[in-house]
Amino acid sequence: MSALPDFRSDNLAPALEAVVRAVADDHIAALRTNVFAGSRFLESELDAGLSVCFARDVESIPVVTGTAANALALAALVPGDGAIFCHEHAHIRGWEAGAYAFYSPGTRLIALPGAGAKIDPNAAQAAIAAFRVKEPATRAAISLTQSTERGANYTPAEIAALGAIAHEADIGVHMDGARFGHAVAALGVTPAETSWRAGVDVLSFGTSKLGSLNAEAIVIFDRVRRAQFADPVKRAGHKLSKRRDLAVQILAILDGDRWIASAAHANNLARRFADGLAALGLPCAEPVDGNQIFVPLSAALAAKLTQAGLQLLEWTEPGLHRFVFAHHHAESDVDRAIDLVRHCVRP
Ligand SMILES: *Cc1c(COP(=O)(O)O)cnc(C)c1O
Repeated sequence: MSALPDFRSDNLAPALEAVVRAVADDHIAALRTNVFAGSRFLESELDAGLSVCFARDVESIPVVTGTAANALALAALVPGDGAIFCHEHAHIRGWEAGAYAFYSPGTRLIALPGAGAKIDPNAAQAAIAAFRVKEPATRAAISLTQSTERGANYTPAEIAALGAIAHEADIGVHMDGARFGHAVAALGVTPAETSWRAGVDVLSFGTSKLGSLNAEAIVIFDRVRRAQFADPVKRAGHKLSKRRDLAVQILAILDGDRWIASAAHANNLARRFADGLAALGLPCAEPVDGNQIFVPLSAALAAKLTQAGLQLLEWTEPGLHRFVFAHHHAESDVDRAIDLVRHCVRP
């Protein structure tokens, strides 16, 4: 039997064939015609594609990492010396080496609690009110992650509640959408409903985990304009000379809703694995709304599983293990993993 696939991170997912083909075809066409210009032209095509996706006119900036998308978007909302309200488990807080402060010097994060890594609205209200006593709104933003760092999805109503709290205080709203597609697929809502219609001003729209090579888009709905990003994007080294490659990738994954199909497949596998583990007496510790699951495992069981060939990733708490699914995993892979766990639990 071949080795089990790696379920530790969806960053490990290969690109979709259609995406690789689109990039290759674009270059091959350029070789034939001897014209490979028009990055700008493709960027306006990207805006047009994203405007259809989000059902309103948007501006966008393609970058190569979610970290860059988050940090640049936050710096546009809070240019420096300010505050960003986020969940205590937020990726911007624990996993980006302080990138937000690199682009927004002097800015601090204010960590908020909430189940499933969703920001508790009462905590947000109180923290924003305390901040606004002393400081101007231009120095603050709230950042929420969809799906969250603990596998949950905000409903549109939950986003709207946080959006209203922020906007009442005149504070901008950022969404880290590294797994935005997983949330859209799971919630069965339109991209608009879980973004700008619920009050999101700027979205980091992730496609790398869904099957692009390396393309994320900062999608601008309100409060900032694309022109504000020109210098920071260049200064940060994110203005790729061949940035049309990024636009081509994102357009290819939007085409025919490939991103939604990829996300729905990954979500289904997460549910399948979670149900399989629960039947073996290993319930998940967090919501299973998207493509990630978090399962407490004893040290003894974890050692057995590793020995048997399942690669494990212990998350932010001892014993809590994360599994993430992506388009290249098959149901049979998940079933084999469940069998392996069964053998280790009941030898
Ligand atoms: C993966 C991820 C990102 C982006 O990470 P990069 O490795 O910088 O592309 C951002 N936010 C969340 C919640 C993520 O899971």
